Amino acid sequence: MHDATTAQNIDDTLLTALAEALGRDRLRVGDDIPESHAADAAGMTPCRPGLLLLPRSTQEVSQALALCHAHGARIVVQGGMTGLAGGAHPQEGEIALSLERMRGIEEIDTLSGTLTAMAGTTLQEIQEAAQASGFFCGIDLGARGSCTIGGNIATNAGGNQVLRYGMARRNVLGLEAVLADGTVVTSLNKMLKNNAGYDWTQLFIGSEGTLGIVTRVVLGLHPAPRGVRSALCAFSRFEDVVTVLRRFDAALPGRMIVFEAMWREYLDTAIGPGGLSPPFPESPEVTLLIEAAMGSEAGNAAGDDASDPFTETLAGFLEEGLIDDALIAQSEADRARFWSYREAVYEFRRIIDAGTNFDVSIPIARLDEAVERLREGARGFGEETRLLVFGHVADSNIHISVSHPRHDAQMSREIQGMVYDIVAALAGSVSAEHGVGMLKRDYLHKSRSEAEIALMRRIKQALDPHNMLNPGRILA
Ligand SMILES: Cc1cc2nc3c(=O)[nH]c(=O)nc-3n(C[C@H](O)[C@H](O)[C@H](O)COP(=O)(O)OP(=O)(O)OC[C@H]3O[C@@H](n4cnc5c(N)ncnc54)[C@H](O)[C@@H]3O)c2cc1C
Repeated sequence: MHDATTAQNIDDTLLTALAEALGRDRLRVGDDIPESHAADAAGMTPCRPGLLLLPRSTQEVSQALALCHAHGARIVVQGGMTGLAGGAHPQEGEIALSLERMRGIEEIDTLSGTLTAMAGTTLQEIQEAAQASGFFCGIDLGARGSCTIGGNIATNAGGNQVLRYGMARRNVLGLEAVLADGTVVTSLNKMLKNNAGYDWTQLFIGSEGTLGIVTRVVLGLHPAPRGVRSALCAFSRFEDVVTVLRRFDAALPGRMIVFEAMWREYLDTAIGPGGLSPPFPESPEVTLLIEAAMGSEAGNAAGDDASDPFTETLAGFLEEGLIDDALIAQSEADRARFWSYREAVYEFRRIIDAGTNFDVSIPIARLDEAVERLREGARGFGEETRLLVFGHVADSNIHISVSHPRHDAQMSREIQGMVYDIVAALAGSVSAEHGVGMLKRDYLHKSRSEAEIALMRRIKQALDPHNMLNPGRILA
């Protein structure tokens, strides 16, 4: 029933049993497996899985896992394949199980303010459904059109609004998951308070598919932010960025939703190779995109800007010399232009040399020092090295890219050593929001103690004793 040349590592009796239990149309083998299942967005060499399972229900996921468990098969769990840590990227001999057919919003409970969806639903579908019901989904990231809510939960995804709404974890109220042996555990909880024993659902958030497969989720929704105002600010010193973060929040508590920083080299790249027009006469040390929900319907179309608290607060910082220059959006077109600098990074892969990319956390108080050390470290690879630093600084999260015309695997390893040594020295984390997957597994010890890693192994052993789900991800 299968193509023996491409499903060669999959046990024949298992294939037959899966086809009988799920139906032939839930299985793909050989050339029938779309290329999109051979690689996620981490940039690793594609590897087509031996078999692709496409269940339509929790029951089918359960049946598939029970059979795979009994046959000692290894499974890689796949959502939207936008992950940047190689977690959903197949390894030789693995069976891929994709949630792509488990898609749909099951309920929006407007009284509880919750949304229940199947794990394969894209984030954008969830955002649109929440909006159509007068609510707002607190999770947002650039890959919204392709990533799935199951993948967001498995990676505990962050994004652009974490300072206001938290990471995926803070938005999840209930979950349903299937364990490695096929056991289904369900807690589609809609309540903020539920201390009846261990909150096991938390264990699956950020576990990157290594402990179980998330099949359904209950999200807590928020009121839609109103009167969003945007500004692009120029700073000559990072310490002033931190002062503005604290003082803005104190002056306008709870209003801030976005606080995205781009260091000089990043803006120069967006303007030079990226072709965007310079926002300021000279490139500042740090360019900051700041957004706040001011609570009025006027939003960016505010007529008399001089009288609104958003502008007045920023004007005060300008007078004090904390901010060197500031542009305040007067229209949605202005706002889109401000975001184009921050989103230019998605084009960089196409227009600059190959490089190694990082998603790390550094305590805010030491971010300035980190950037100086990174600049020094990058110089060590020669003059042609391009270092880019940008990110969600209010969350202590920076993204780093180190590229070079002669970038290769050896240089990449050396760059990783340089960056992760700095992260460890400054008590940071090797993964802020993208997860560990396979790409950062060998650096986990730089951010976690031996005792912490031993505890992770005990949890994995308890839930997946045969090391069947996403083996080699997070833990070697
Ligand atoms: C342009 C772009 C922008 C991005 N911006 C951000 C950002 O701002 N913040 C951020 O955090 N990330 C960002 N990412 C990374 C990525 O989008 C997130 O990690 C996202 O949460 C992955 O979702 P996915 O459905 O694509 O998961 P996949 O890539 O398919 O899988 C990711 C991991 O989750 C596991 N998994 C997937 N579904 C399930 C499930 N149902 N049950 C159990 N395990 C599962 C996989 O095995 C894998 O380990 C970005 C990526 C791109 C390409």
